[in-house]
Amino acid sequence: MHDTVNAITRFDDSNDKDDDSEHHDLSLKEIQKNDHDLKIVTKWVETDERPDYKDISDKGFFLRSLWNQWNNLELRDGLIYRRFEDPATKIVKMQAIIPLSERKKVLQFSHDDKCSAHLGIHKTLAKIRQSYYWPGLQNDVRTYINGCDKCAKRKSPQKSKRAPMALVEANGPMERIATDILGELPETESGNKYILVVSLTTTQSGRRAFAMPNMEAKTVAKIIVEEVIVRLVFLIGYTQIKAGNLKACCFKRCVLYSKH
Ligand SMILES: [Zn+2]
Repeated sequence: MHDTVNAITRFDDSNDKDDDSEHHDLSLKEIQKNDHDLKIVTKWVETDERPDYKDISDKGFFLRSLWNQWNNLELRDGLIYRRFEDPATKIVKMQAIIPLSERKKVLQFSHDDKCSAHLGIHKTLAKIRQSYYWPGLQNDVRTYINGCDKCAKRKSPQKSKRAPMALVEANGPMERIATDILGELPETESGNKYILVVSLTTTQSGRRAFAMPNMEAKTVAKIIVEEVIVRLVFLIGYTQIKAGNLKACCFKRCVLYSKH
């Protein structure tokens, strides 16, 4: 199998040398000769006799397709080619027609090979079309690549949909607070291993850090109530809000909380 691949690869190199028949690989020629359908096609071209359609209408897709491309078939040094004009570059390529038995090998070295590096469908197809052809080539390339494990693994997993992040405005101190927890850190003598950082958003100076022994919700809530809401709300309310009724309100809440 490996020899045949090499043979086809060598043939690939020789294709650029145009009419230099010395470089045509005998292995591919033999493979074409051993293929039942290609033997028939070779005979058509050799004798320059295109059969009537009624004679090939029941012969299968491969023969019917090549019959339809009669004007593009050419025999060079015993090898059957299809003449193909690249629609993008208008360069005419002579594509060796590959029988069924060899197609998987062509797909493998055009896609899996180190130099091919698992190219996508269009690039793999373009690479094969440089030198080879068979009816149904495009579908075969698509099917082969869709079934390639490495390509499937390389595709990034679907990202879970998330709501877009939105900026939340705070119009004053303590309107919103944000918290974050650092840790686990080396345990202190007093048994703390985490740091709770509380940010009072609009105020740079309103960031506080609190040591805590664990990151349980109860511990965090206790610090936020006792150290932030009661102390800092009161402080900020006291220093920034001058209205007597609000000041009283803060005091009231402190008293209410302290009773629990
Ligand atoms: Zn692949």
